Amino acid sequence: MIVKPRIRGFICTTAHPTGCARNVQDQVNYVRGRPQVKGSSNALVVGCSAGYGLASRISAAFGCGANTIGVSFEKEPSERKTGSAGWYNNFAFDRLASSANLFSHTINDDAFADHTKIAVIEAIRKNFGSIDLLIYSLAAPIRTHPKTGEVFRSTIKPIGQTMNSRTLKLDVLTGNCEVAEIDIEEATDEEIRSTTAVMGGEDWEYWIEVLSEAGVLAKNFKTVAYTYLGNELTWPIYRGGTIGKAKEHLDETCHKLKQRFGQSGVDASIAVLKAVVTQASTAIPVVPLYFSILFREMKAKGTHEDCIDHIHRLFHEQLYQEPRREDDSGRIRMDNYELDEAVQASVAKSWERINSDNVHELADVNGFQADFLRLFGFGHPEVDYDAEVNPVPLQG
Ligand code: NAD
Repeated sequence: MIVKPRIRGFICTTAHPTGCARNVQDQVNYVRGRPQVKGSSNALVVGCSAGYGLASRISAAFGCGANTIGVSFEKEPSERKTGSAGWYNNFAFDRLASSANLFSHTINDDAFADHTKIAVIEAIRKNFGSIDLLIYSLAAPIRTHPKTGEVFRSTIKPIGQTMNSRTLKLDVLTGNCEVAEIDIEEATDEEIRSTTAVMGGEDWEYWIEVLSEAGVLAKNFKTVAYTYLGNELTWPIYRGGTIGKAKEHLDETCHKLKQRFGQSGVDASIAVLKAVVTQASTAIPVVPLYFSILFREMKAKGTHEDCIDHIHRLFHEQLYQEPRREDDSGRIRMDNYELDEAVQASVAKSWERINSDNVHELADVNGFQADFLRLFGFGHPEVDYDAEVNPVPLQG
């Protein structure tokens, strides 16, 4: 079939198999061209198929030479329908790892479910006995609680007040866009509770608990979960909103993990990462406008990073090096370039002035658009998008 992007707002329902494979190859090539990291030997990445999780798996495998197990929840392709981009990314990763003689095993199942955790433990026991790294990089819309069966959905809303702000309305195919006003109503207590149940730290703690009980954590075991803080412009919807509450719970979980498992050698931390275009981040209102203004400023300063540059930097300069760049709460700060004072001052100035007429001048809309299409394997310069492609890639 010929695969073209099919888009509604910031959702794309198709993915290009060859384009996704090329994106993964590009990330692997990037890491291969950087200094090797003396780090993980056996890593587990939860949320491995896209965005920061995929970049983490590539950094662990191709940057450290680690065996990797990955968990993600992606849609398989059929002869008539493409799979999700993450499915193709996993397929490409496994193939590249295998040709580099790196062990990889990908589990396509619900990370919140007990049976998935058991499958991971079995895979660890069978293949290398223990893991020394767990990257927790889930971004999920829904969670069925493994103990109670209650179904929780995450929502992105402000807390305590209706929010009036601006966002980017972008037609990702044509590039036509406008800066539009939006009102977002405040979250109910139930929505706050649900979002915390999905995106907070409980599941991360469950992972460490079962892996520790199963005796598959190496003596030098580290675990890192990812968070975002951002700046004043996004605080009402992010840090001060439902997702921010969930991330506060993640912070609390990190302290809890240190207390519960620190004596057995578990080193738990939170890394604050920069803004990047992913399926998860584009679902957040306001974010596309802030991101495209930010990217313009960071690119002008030469400090812009994509997932892979950013995560390779995390592995290279923070995870396996002392001293780490930590804040008062002990979080590893990778958002130092995003929050650079000069960058933020320019972003704030553009935010004040931006409107539908000057949006292309003040914001990197084209970069945002290209990043978005790339998530689904589109827009790669070396892929012929008019050629027939099999949506079910051949094994082997
Ligand atoms: P993403 O949408 O690119 O990837 C999410 C991953 O979670 C995918 O691998 C997906 O398959 C997996 N997943 C979702 N539900 C699952 C389930 N039930 N079981 C198994 N896997 C499941 O997301 P991302 O933007 O890379 O976010 C990853 C983490 O990084 C999140 O914690 C996010 O808050 C954090 N972060 C993101 C940004 C950003 O700008 N994108 C910035 C800072 C921190």
